[in-house]
Amino acid sequence: MRIVVSGAAGFIGSHFCDRALGEGHTVVALDNFLTGSQRNLEHLIGRSGFSFTRQDITEPFNVAGTVDCVVNMASPASPKDYLEHPIETLDVGSLGTRNMLELALTKKARFLVTSTSECYGDPMVHPQVETYWGNVNPVGPRSCYDESKRFAEAITMAYHRKHGLRTNIARIFNTYGPRMKLDDGRVVPAFLDQALHSKPMTVFGTGSQTRSFCYVSDLVDGLYRLMQSDERYPVNLGNPREMTILEFAEHIRAMTGAKSEIVYEPLPEDDPKQRRPDISKAKSVLGWEPRVPLEDGLRETVAYFQGLSASAA
Ligand code: NAD
Ligand code: UDP
Repeated sequence: MRIVVSGAAGFIGSHFCDRALGEGHTVVALDNFLTGSQRNLEHLIGRSGFSFTRQDITEPFNVAGTVDCVVNMASPASPKDYLEHPIETLDVGSLGTRNMLELALTKKARFLVTSTSECYGDPMVHPQVETYWGNVNPVGPRSCYDESKRFAEAITMAYHRKHGLRTNIARIFNTYGPRMKLDDGRVVPAFLDQALHSKPMTVFGTGSQTRSFCYVSDLVDGLYRLMQSDERYPVNLGNPREMTILEFAEHIRAMTGAKSEIVYEPLPEDDPKQRRPDISKAKSVLGWEPRVPLEDGLRETVAYFQGLSASAA
């Protein structure tokens, strides 16, 4: 297949490109480097079957030649990034998604969009099932991301219903691994950076809010399976092992042997209190479930961050 991937220079996008190329597909990668980095694609430059174009997908664009699949991953994803770029975030989920859908329609290609567990907002149903409609504050600080993704889901379903486009919607839960930005504010790089550099570990609120962390290779495997499926409604992809953020901080401290103290900072507005995916649908429809234990995934991630520090020194 010839696959167009937007957001290819991002954390998940770059791993998806690796997987698609590894499976023998051709990849046309697009990114405007808003939150991604050239470094994430460096190893692919010059590789047969891979090409990259610097492109803001909210602007009109064309891709020459045939396309079999369009994968739309472009969007800031960390709260720090989308709070810094709220308009760009709304634009990429709306205009950008529409441009990618039009590309799929013109090329008679299939289409996959990466949505998010943020569609559930601060959820009143736990664990979150795909049939839950969510509890999103439409005017809070996170709304630029949450509503952008809810719009992206809605317009994807509209293209499917109106044009019969073969679409898939992935609702991704917290994912981590190599190529995350050390300073993107998300809890995994934040805690690892703090632990590895003996800085205080910043727990927001009391740390009683919960998350569950999926290693990136597992997530990409779920996306790859979903891309080939006929499931049109959203599918949760994430790891169901849930823990409080305080437990997570203690886990990282023990694992790295860090001497860091834990300090408490204010909880960001509308920070979801609990989050865990119900992955029954992914199991039954895709035959998918995560395989990488947290301990192994964190070890790989630590090695990546240590490699970055060594090459910067
Ligand atoms: P990321 O910020 O590392 O990657 C996103 C990429 O999109 C970046 O390379 C950025 O430059 C690019 N981009 C942004 N706006 C663009 C535009 N207008 N045109 C072209 N490129 C643009 O984030 P990520 O963690 O890799 O997330 C990838 C996707 O997965 C996003 O759609 C995100 O919403 C979704 N997601 C991620 C997580 C997670 O835990 N990482 C959770 C839920 C959903
Ligand atoms: N968090 C924290 N300390 C940090 C960064 C994040 O306690 O330095 C908390 C944050 O408040 C949230 C959880 O960790 O409850 C996950 O945050 P992240 O930004 O990784 O992703 P989210 O799930 O909120 O999108």
